[in-house]
Amino acid sequence: MSIRLLVLVFFLVAVGPAAADTLFHRALLIPMEGAPAVIPDGYFVVDEDGRITELGAGAPEREFGPAQQVDLSGRIVIPGFVSAHTHSWQSAARGLAPNGGLTQWIAAKSKIFDSSLLQAGDVELITAHGSIDALLHGITTLYEHNQESAIWRHGQVVDHIPNYNREVFEGLLKHGQRFVFGYRRQGYRSAGYDPRAVEQLQHAETEIQSLRELAAASPYADRLLDIQLSSLGVYFADEDLIRGDFALARRLDTGIQLHALEEPGRRERELQAVKFILTELAEDAHRVTFSHFVHPDDEVLTLTAELGARMNWNPLANGRLGSGTPDIERYLAMGIPVGLGVDGAGSADVTDPFENMRSGAYQLRAMKQRADAISVAQVLRAHTLGAAEVIGAADAVGSLRPGKYADFLVLDPDRLDIGPIHDPIGALVLAGKPAHIEAIYIGGEPIVRDGVHLEAREIGAQVEAFMARHRRDVLAAKDAPGAPAGYR
Ligand SMILES: [Zn+2]
Repeated sequence: MSIRLLVLVFFLVAVGPAAADTLFHRALLIPMEGAPAVIPDGYFVVDEDGRITELGAGAPEREFGPAQQVDLSGRIVIPGFVSAHTHSWQSAARGLAPNGGLTQWIAAKSKIFDSSLLQAGDVELITAHGSIDALLHGITTLYEHNQESAIWRHGQVVDHIPNYNREVFEGLLKHGQRFVFGYRRQGYRSAGYDPRAVEQLQHAETEIQSLRELAAASPYADRLLDIQLSSLGVYFADEDLIRGDFALARRLDTGIQLHALEEPGRRERELQAVKFILTELAEDAHRVTFSHFVHPDDEVLTLTAELGARMNWNPLANGRLGSGTPDIERYLAMGIPVGLGVDGAGSADVTDPFENMRSGAYQLRAMKQRADAISVAQVLRAHTLGAAEVIGAADAVGSLRPGKYADFLVLDPDRLDIGPIHDPIGALVLAGKPAHIEAIYIGGEPIVRDGVHLEAREIGAQVEAFMARHRRDVLAAKDAPGAPAGYR
């Protein structure tokens, strides 16, 4: 290569616009970070790695060819929603125990989804169903709280589905969404401490490493944001179980999410377990996210704020199951990070962040009898950047700014059920719905257009077929000799 050609190549690479850069412009932008909060005529540039490189008002200084720009005139653009707490697996468990609280709902789910009858591949399939469902509702990143591995008999966990973590992981990896995987350590029992615990900690470390390698070697490597731990410790109020999960979190230097203080009838028991964490394990409390956290007392709230623990707020599930309304106004005033989650599509029935935001805001405003108990901007933040902060992914997602992934929703406000728009954030929170989403981009690529996700129909049909087979298997097991009475 001649020197002149070499200089020219260097110049093109170093200075010229990269061919893969794309300009998105003329949008009403709500970036959820920086000022102003709303940019009426905004643009941003996305590079070939799917990250935002520039963002601002008006137009960039350099030129873009016609094939490198997307005109978003008349559209609102917001970051994709983040769910700080999700069980994608529950997507096939909608509508169960429609008038029951958490305990009745878990009992109904455990009967129908008798885990011992699941076959290889079933868990991956129904996880994919839940993941695509959440994506179609505008959730581009979720924290998957993995927990359904238990095989129950007579109200006890007697074993675990082999490869459960791996099937959920693979069900999430391939369909477009980014996720933080909340790994569930297997092998413990609700009846007490499992003597195989040390072996199981080592097994967990090995398995987590293999999941990381699986993602890294796949074409979807950038969809996995992190692997953290999901613990059942507070639910079982089992100190040995809690210690084991915290030991693993410390070894892996990662976060840990626990269901805590959800159902009012379990309050006293769970308060003790939460206090055990915030006192005996205080040096690791900064790793903790409490899921639901509806019924803390003053001591727990003060320690949570002081030690840097977080919470996720799941108003659709809390309302549906009659769990209560957490005092989010107080939590935020105390500096406790709050992220909204849609919880399981079974216990909340819809993975709709718009309904979730309204449900949360309205529960809180009604409880406080004041409309300023929470603002629309606070609610929208809790389902975007706030949720990203709670799951430890705010450096990658949750807002639109240079350096982050270009994961965003294009919304059409030109509809009579949302327009005319007086206050864009107010309109989105108070009147927005998934039907207003025209396109969903992940890493600058349109994954969903006009509500269409290429795999959604096929996965839906496969889940229907799975349910038909599984129902037959459950009915046959119920009638088998020796089946426990509680099964009938
Ligand atoms: Zn949950």
